[in-house]
Amino acid sequence: MNLQSPVSMGGRSLKMYASRLEKLGINTLEDFLFHLPSRYEDYSIISTIGEVQAGETVTIQGKITEIKNQYLRGRRIKTIQKAIVADETGQIELVWFNQPFLIKSLIEGSRVSVSGKIELSKKGLSISGPVYEILYDNQSNPIHTGRLIPVYPETKGISSKWLRRQIHNIFDQHEVEIREYLPDDLIQKNSFLDYKTSLKEIHFPSFLETAAKARERLSFDELFLIQLAANRRRNAWKEQNLITPFRVSEYRNNVEKLVSSLPFKLTDSQQKAINDILSDLGKNKPMNRLLQGDVGSGKTVVGAIAMYVTFINGFQSVFMTPTEILAQQHYQTIYKLLSPFGVKVEIRTGSKKGKALSVKGKERKTLTPYPLPLTPDILIGTHAVLSEKIKFKKLGFVVIDEQQRFGVAQRGIIRGKGENPHLLTMTATPIPRTVALTMYGDLDLSYLSEMPMGRKIIKTWLVPPEKRNPGYEWIRKQIKETDSQVFIICPFIEESESMQTIKAAKGEYERLSRDIFPDLKLGLLHGKLKSKEKDEVLSKFREKEFDILVATPVVEVGIDIPNATIMMIEASERFGLAQLHQLRGRVGRGDKQSYCLLFTDSEFAQNSKRLKGMETLNSGAELAELDLRLRGPGNMYGTAQHGIFKLKAASFGDTNLIQRAKNEADRIFPNLDKYVKLQEKVDTITLEKISPD
Ligand code: ADP
Ligand code: MG
Repeated sequence: MNLQSPVSMGGRSLKMYASRLEKLGINTLEDFLFHLPSRYEDYSIISTIGEVQAGETVTIQGKITEIKNQYLRGRRIKTIQKAIVADETGQIELVWFNQPFLIKSLIEGSRVSVSGKIELSKKGLSISGPVYEILYDNQSNPIHTGRLIPVYPETKGISSKWLRRQIHNIFDQHEVEIREYLPDDLIQKNSFLDYKTSLKEIHFPSFLETAAKARERLSFDELFLIQLAANRRRNAWKEQNLITPFRVSEYRNNVEKLVSSLPFKLTDSQQKAINDILSDLGKNKPMNRLLQGDVGSGKTVVGAIAMYVTFINGFQSVFMTPTEILAQQHYQTIYKLLSPFGVKVEIRTGSKKGKALSVKGKERKTLTPYPLPLTPDILIGTHAVLSEKIKFKKLGFVVIDEQQRFGVAQRGIIRGKGENPHLLTMTATPIPRTVALTMYGDLDLSYLSEMPMGRKIIKTWLVPPEKRNPGYEWIRKQIKETDSQVFIICPFIEESESMQTIKAAKGEYERLSRDIFPDLKLGLLHGKLKSKEKDEVLSKFREKEFDILVATPVVEVGIDIPNATIMMIEASERFGLAQLHQLRGRVGRGDKQSYCLLFTDSEFAQNSKRLKGMETLNSGAELAELDLRLRGPGNMYGTAQHGIFKLKAASFGDTNLIQRAKNEADRIFPNLDKYVKLQEKVDTITLEKISPD
């Protein structure tokens, strides 16, 4: 057993808890050491019972002289546990609720250490709900009392107390394995604590100041190692084979013709992103660029223009999307845009019929309403394009939409279908620019920083329970008077699109059709529909055959129906800010005023800072900042669900430390092979969970 051993190889209790621990991201013993406290409880004042005063938070130590259960008929409080603890100077009552098992462990005569806030009642001093631990003769220091006590992020069935015990044990048993790896001069220069001390002090600090120093060191390490790993990857990318540069300037006119065929004028930042990309395509190294732009900022057309240049140069492109609905939609957009210019566009999705590249003749027509050529210039599809059967003659350019939904391996597979093709990844997840520049040192970045002209701010309101019916009336009026279309989003009942969720959406669809909007036409969309059915529902909605589309959050990513101007979200308190913003981004795509109604039946939600933030903030970047403030780093905006940005110690808010780590990494990187231990540590960093690529 060592620190790298999986939790499931640990003792019996660890084995039992393995699946719960996974939820906290704890898979190995070492992961426990990086499950860092979110705060500390200060129980460091140890007092004799005779000296304690009401209002103080203290630790007392003495003997249990009495303990009993009292049974009540209450609904919430079924039992009360009362104990008396005494030392030479006095005695005090301890009270717990609903913990009948306590009397089995805290038996009369046991020596205990107890922490909590002293309360004064008519009957004298007492502590309610104290933290306690039994002091055994051979135990030197208490773990849960009598000091600064770490409080950890918890999950069902995993308490801070339990975690504290495990972490304490792991230190005891594996201390020798915790070895310094930073170069001496780096430690000196920054006056860092050493590695082992840092880990100890962050969990069981001597003082709050040392806990802070420990966190600084561990945060630095985290950022520094990531940065070194990114440097290494950037180097590897640079060493890739040279490729034939595309001819770009010769074809400026063609590009301009295409651009002038668009029904709109490109925004400045779209134009700039296109210039960045075209200049990359003209180089003899493959592009590795991330295009970041808020929902609705118009990333698709940027990708399309680059694919057109690829086509003129005689190369194929592939455009990969995370969902089938998106693939369909992009297919239609890009087909309409590029086929007049002689580009053959094809689609391939996971549906049974989608044998795009191998099917011939008639069958092929059943795939989509458009005629399909045999070898596409552009292939659009879901992860289905990763299939071994899909081969390209001359793949020159890969676009990955909503890249956070794909793993590094998948990106590797798709690029492997060509010879070092250019790569453009796209995301709507707002990564603050400073963060992106330093953390994703291996990527080039383009930002779409503005919305297309004429876009109005989407008016957003929180709709409390008593306004539900007026809310429905308002929607009806809007539909009748302004010819608007409406999305009504039902929440996921369980984590993903389970049968439960679909049942709930169906129920809501029926209820709305029957009781609320019998005079209107409603459609239903959920993820378990066959792709053809999904397609039908969406195209009917697009053709205005429905006024209202009731949907599970499957419409979250990317769907583009400009005439839909009202987004109504049920049980909005159950969604994260990133998801709400994505959903809201489904409307406001045309030039009509659009609205987002956040329905909630929760009294609490009405005061929720999160939902209130949706009313006043319009950009993903601002919402990300709010999320950072409300939930703290590590939970930043939509990142939990996307599996990126999961920093353990550091915070993306700390630009200063990020910069320091980057400087040091850049300084050390050229000589990294001289630092064997450091290098080994860098080897353990998987950027998959952190960087887009
Ligand atoms: P996203 O960045 O979220 O992927 P899309 O590419 O789906 O955004 O674009 C959103 C909508 O905006 C589409 O209907 C698209 O045709 C339109 N659009 C894109 N660029 C412009 C522009 N410069 N002016 C007006 N509309 C635009
Ligand atoms: Mg998009």
